[in-house]
This record gives sequence, C-alpha cells and structure tokens, in this order.
Amino acid sequence: MNIGFVGLGIMGSPMASHLIAAGHRVAGFDVQPAPVRQLGAIGGRAAASVGDAVADAEVVITMLPDHTHVEQVAFGEDGVLARAKPGTLLIDMSTIRPETSVAVARAGAERGLRVLDAPVSGGEVGAKQATLSIMVGGTPDDVAAARPILEVLGQNVVHVGDHGAGQVVKAANQLVVAGVYGLVGEAIVLLEASGVDPAKGLDVLAGGLAASRILDLKRASMIAREFQPGFRIDLHHKDMGIVLDAARRANVALPLSGLVAQLVAAARAMGHGGDDHSALLTVTTALSGRE
Ligand code: NAD
Repeated sequence: MNIGFVGLGIMGSPMASHLIAAGHRVAGFDVQPAPVRQLGAIGGRAAASVGDAVADAEVVITMLPDHTHVEQVAFGEDGVLARAKPGTLLIDMSTIRPETSVAVARAGAERGLRVLDAPVSGGEVGAKQATLSIMVGGTPDDVAAARPILEVLGQNVVHVGDHGAGQVVKAANQLVVAGVYGLVGEAIVLLEASGVDPAKGLDVLAGGLAASRILDLKRASMIAREFQPGFRIDLHHKDMGIVLDAARRANVALPLSGLVAQLVAAARAMGHGGDDHSALLTVTTALSGRE
C-alpha cells in the first residue's frame, strides 16, 4: 500500500521502518529533517511536507506529540484533510485528548476520509520490536481495513469502541503506568533507606504477585538512576492531564491518579521533563531527603 507517515520521532521512526520492511511504500515527513533523511536511506521516500507525504496515500498514519500537533497536521492548509484523496484511511496513533479524535473523525468524514484513533502502549521497545498493544476507536469496517497495517506494528490490536474510545483506553493505561512507576520508586527508596540491596529486593518482587512489565524492563535502570528516554516525563505530564480531564468529563473521582499527576508535575518542575518517566523516582527520593 501507499502509506504517508507523519511524525518520525522515538515511536514513529521504528514503526515506519517496519512498514517498509513489510513491503509497503512509505512516504515520511517530520518537521525535523534528520529522521526524514534516515527514512529515505532505509527504502522510504523522504517527503517535503505533510501534503507531499499524504497526497498519494491510501493510508495515512500520524504519530505526533499532542493534540495541537495533530490538529495542525490534520486541519492545516497543507494538511491531511486538505491534501489526502477521499477514501483515504487516516490512523492517528498519537496519544491525545479523546475530543480531538472525535473532531478529526467528524471533519474527516465530511471530506470522505475514514478516521481511526489508534494509540499504542509498549513504549520504544514495543515500537522497535513491533510488539505494541494498539487500542482502536472507530467504525468496525474501518478497523477491519486498518488491521493488516496495524498488525505489522503490534500483536495486540483491539477494537475498543467508537471514535475517541481508543484514547480513553490509553488514558486508563497511562494512569496505571504512572501509578506503578510511583510505587516501584517508593519500593526502591524504602529498600535503600533500610540497607537492603534494592536489586535483590526487586528481583523477588518481579517473581511474585507484584510482578509487572515495568519491574521487568526498568528496575535495573531505575536503581542505577539511568533516565535516558524512552517515554519522556513531558509526555506523561500531558497524558495525566488527559486522564484528569477525561475523569472530570465522565464525572468520576480518581484520587490516586490525581496524586500521581502531581508527582509527575513535580518531576517536570524539578527539571526532569526530558528524562524517561521512570525519573518519577527522583521526586520520591527528594521527598525523603535522600538525594
Ligand atoms: P517524539 O517527540 O519523539 O516524536 C514526535 C515527532 O513528531 C517528533 O519527531 C516531532 O518533530 C514530530 N512533529 C511535531 N510536530 C510535527 C508536525 N507539525 N509535522 C510533522 N512532524 C511533527 O514523541 P514519541 O515518543 O515518538 O511519541 C509520539 C506519540 O506517541 C505521543 O503522543 C506519545 O504520548 C505517544 N507514545 C509514546 C510512547 C513512548 O514510549 N515514547 C509510548 C506510547 C505512546
């Protein structure tokens, strides 16, 4: 298929490379020139603009930081709605607020475009290994049409509901991930302050009921205070905003999410916005005066 791919960052670049390896013709664009050149070097086409990337596409995938970028790429003068052909499938895989996904789907339908929200979980490792979990919102026919493409990128592709539902599931995912990071950080601080080797302690946790993917993938780097991203605190701060906003709209109280959102905000205020979200540990460490 002809695929236009917009947003070639930490996630988008490896995802686009899998689509090329699967035999698709991928035209990629990013506002940063380096990843666009790199896509050209591995068999994709380096597009000069969003319009250039999407004009001949049957499928357009966007993987952008936040809703403002998605709005710009979708609604801009040279954007997807203006330049893609009617019938094109627009799959937005960014994590954004559900109401923007709904607005893009409505505006896209008026232009004859089929739109899905399909945010992902699994992080940079999942993107590189093509093992992402993908939660898809949209109509059953459009999800069926997108499935062969999405299954190149992930193993667990689930149609969770109508437009915007993918983003609500992603918000639920992000509150759990931030909460687990907060608790793993507290376990490390407790073990260290008690004179117990945190590596041995967390090895035990990882084999029992407290086991989690975060413990599996991140316990060694957290203990070593290595916070190279991965998934940046800035992005998780954005996601906790989406969580609390969605909770307000749904008229529910999420007290633990509210607390964890403040810890993520503190990590950002302490200068860790560009670090991996496991740097939430630095806030817990500072609260105990153990820097
Ligand atoms: P990133 O910042 O590395 O990549 C985003 C890319 O979009 C950048 O290269 C940026 O230059 C580009 N961009 C911004 N505005 C643009 C525009 N107008 N036109 C073209 N390109 C533009 O971010 P990422 O880590 O790849 O995350 C992308 C999305 O995926 C975010 O919504 C994030 O929340 C979500 N996500 C990330 C991870 C992760 O582990 N990194 C995991 C799951 C979901």
